[in-house]
Amino acid sequence: MTVDAQQETLEFQTEAKQLLQLMIHSLYSNKEIFLRELLSNAADACDKLRFEALTDEGIYEGDSELKIHVDFDKEKRTVTIHDNGVGMTRQDVIDNIGTIARSGTRQFLESLNGDQVNDAKLIGQFGVGFYSSFIVADKVTLETRRAGVAAEQGVRWQSQGEGSYSLENTELPRRGTTITLHLREGEDEFLDDFRLRMIIRKYSDSLDLPIVMKKTGEEEEGEEVVNQASALWTRPRKEITDDEYQSFYKHISHDFEDALSWVHTRSEGRQSYTSLLYIPARAPFDLWERQQSQGIKLYVRRVFIMEDTEHLMPTYLRFVRGVIDSDDLPLNVSREILQKNRQIDVMRAASVKKVLGMLESMARDDGEKYDKFWQQFGRVLKEGIVEDEGNRQRIAALLRFTSTAGDNVSLNDYIERMKEGQEKIYFITADSLTAARNSPHLEVFRKKGIEVLLMHERVDDWMLTALDSFSDKALRSVAKGNLDLGDLDDEETKKAREEASDKLADLLPRMQEILGDKVKEVRATDRLTDSPACVVVDDEEMALNLRRMLEAAGQPVPPSQPILEINPEHPLIALLEAEEEDDRFADWVNIIHDQAQLSEGGQLQDPAQFVRRINEMLVRITN
Ligand code: ADP
Ligand code: MG
Repeated sequence: MTVDAQQETLEFQTEAKQLLQLMIHSLYSNKEIFLRELLSNAADACDKLRFEALTDEGIYEGDSELKIHVDFDKEKRTVTIHDNGVGMTRQDVIDNIGTIARSGTRQFLESLNGDQVNDAKLIGQFGVGFYSSFIVADKVTLETRRAGVAAEQGVRWQSQGEGSYSLENTELPRRGTTITLHLREGEDEFLDDFRLRMIIRKYSDSLDLPIVMKKTGEEEEGEEVVNQASALWTRPRKEITDDEYQSFYKHISHDFEDALSWVHTRSEGRQSYTSLLYIPARAPFDLWERQQSQGIKLYVRRVFIMEDTEHLMPTYLRFVRGVIDSDDLPLNVSREILQKNRQIDVMRAASVKKVLGMLESMARDDGEKYDKFWQQFGRVLKEGIVEDEGNRQRIAALLRFTSTAGDNVSLNDYIERMKEGQEKIYFITADSLTAARNSPHLEVFRKKGIEVLLMHERVDDWMLTALDSFSDKALRSVAKGNLDLGDLDDEETKKAREEASDKLADLLPRMQEILGDKVKEVRATDRLTDSPACVVVDDEEMALNLRRMLEAAGQPVPPSQPILEINPEHPLIALLEAEEEDDRFADWVNIIHDQAQLSEGGQLQDPAQFVRRINEMLVRITN
């Protein structure tokens, strides 16, 4: 039978063109990874076929020994990779190879910055693996036939990586995919048996699939398996070297860098499964997308089922990569089943505990490493405080803050340093570290030598809505309610405070009258030493910082009236008391109120008026 070739030439998407060029340049220093990428695709294709065969044995066409062949031809200067996996239809080829439909592509292009080392690290994360062939090849031929279709429905794809590719039908007796790389001038190093074997072993030892090459040696005939070909996680822990763990990590995560840490466990009993979970060294570009499907691969008795992080890890651990291999789940498990499966729930809960346990030991045994982790993923872990009530205290112990006493402060560090008589953990939230550090609310704490946690990340206010205590110690904002230092308040200060209030008995109502409903109350405070005034909110009110964040995000927030607190000892307040002229008094009061908002990180409703008032005052003083 003859094949209707349906030859056509198609253009890549513009993005693909650009990508190819960038790929070649930025990956050149690590060019051998083309082979890893192609082997990984071939292994994926075999996994897919094995999965389809679960419901349809016939799809094997009598050939169920899945493997990958690697071959080279010195004369023709080609390297060939063949797999007898699932293959592709013509449309699959157009969709998967011709189009770079991945949303990551654009982000990838945008995140390139010309720094070769960093750019190279990024590429793997964007699933542009196939194109890495063009680093070493100036022409790539891909022949493929989908499992289960007739030999005449084979497809040949060919491209020189310069903007277009050709596509034609061709008869292919062998199922699966063959990729032939026509090497560029100067890339002959890959026409070498030893070199190719080294690369295969380096990247693909733990692929659960034999990778075979022709036997070497004069008289030898036939082929031999080059890699170890066993699923790494099924081997005993003590027999696996760190290098093997790392190379497996790179295979499953497409990361170029080593993992920071991993935990490998076998659970027997009501649920039998193996898990191997990694923490990457660097946050991926899409860490902030909370819906992540990639990351955890689910296997059932060593058969790859699906990649589904959503059901296997909570959102706040979405950066974890790895494998969970269950002995008990049915092989035909679907996403729908995952959603309401008790076995999945048990494995998930146990995996969370494993990851938290790994982080705890890292924090205990290798602080420097933990700091690295925290830098990359700390903000994501904070989401766990809100989302994982059951593990809240464990997660809280893993949090790190900057405080008035230093960096990388844990809540336990804080508690250890608490002053005699101190009952609460004090914190302040602000838009930036500088704003937090310089807030007037800290003045009295500094004077008394009490440590305050400086929270300045966006998630902090949200996190704090769920974290009201740690180790029986209440967390307390220094910018909320009456300053209550508990036993830290000595008799002397209490007395001073009362005296101060008496002293201001006339002034406070006068100020209140000027400010009207801009404030809930004007009162004296002893929380300030250097500033004349500050604004605070009542205990039950939303923190000002959280309010600003929600407002900026266009969220409705209930109206609030902050309280203006006055430092009776401040010279400005003395001036204010002495002011008899009503207009000037009103100006002073407004300036003080505006200032208090500014130093708290707030924005003025009428900044121009603030400036005008200040200037008038300056003119008056200098005259
Ligand atoms: P990724 O592997 O991250 O999806 P690639 O660029 O490596 O990205 O591959 C793109 C797609 O092309 C794959 O997802 C797969 O659908 C298809 N593909 C690549 N190689 C093969 C192969 N050997 N057999 C079957 N399909 C393949
Ligand atoms: Mg790939």
